[in-house]
Amino acid sequence: MNLVRFMNNRVPSNKRYQPTNYEHAANCATHALWIIPSLLGSSVLHFLSEDQWERVSAWLYGAGLTSLFLISTLFHTVAWKKSHLRSVEHCFHMCDRMVIYFFIAASYAPWLNLRELGPWACHMRWLVWVMASVGTTYVFFFHERYKLMELICYTVMGVFPALVILSMPDREGLWELLVGGACYCLGMVFFKSDGLVPFAHAIWHLFVAMGAGIHYYAIYRYLYTPTANQMKLSR
Ligand SMILES: [Zn+2]
Repeated sequence: MNLVRFMNNRVPSNKRYQPTNYEHAANCATHALWIIPSLLGSSVLHFLSEDQWERVSAWLYGAGLTSLFLISTLFHTVAWKKSHLRSVEHCFHMCDRMVIYFFIAASYAPWLNLRELGPWACHMRWLVWVMASVGTTYVFFFHERYKLMELICYTVMGVFPALVILSMPDREGLWELLVGGACYCLGMVFFKSDGLVPFAHAIWHLFVAMGAGIHYYAIYRYLYTPTANQMKLSR
């Protein structure tokens, strides 16, 4: 089977790759699939919450997780079916990129809010949201202008709070956090492979879903199930 007909030619780094119809469909499906599970998963955390902090963290995390898949699906649908509406597509593309910053902050929130961490945790608790806001502002002004810079920003945002997490005295869940993080890093290879690997962007989506799934499992298992209670921060 000739895989090339599923893929268009690679474009220079200052241009945007044009996916084939197959690729467009895969881009939409690979994130649309996770919208309902994200909502259900967030609700589970909400119902397992035993106090205000747990409930707030469940909502923040759930909102980040669900909006990542929802906004990505909306953007890819618009890019596929309504690409002639240039400004609408541009706006959705910006939102797709902005939500990643909030998703990263939201993924860290339950750990920073609920786990007993080192002395830096209380600062990182709000700093992640400041970083997400700075990232969003950057996207607003410089969207697609310096692509390498964007990648560096996401990596800093993704790795920097982990330094605090790594210092936690209780190591439960650390392994899952690292494996999930590795999924995102590995996925970035495909994120940069449009026109080289057929369905590269959809493969990137699957790596994101896998990373998010592993992180969800760790949050559910180590921060929200009753056996996790004795390890939690005394509030
Ligand atoms: Zn995408």
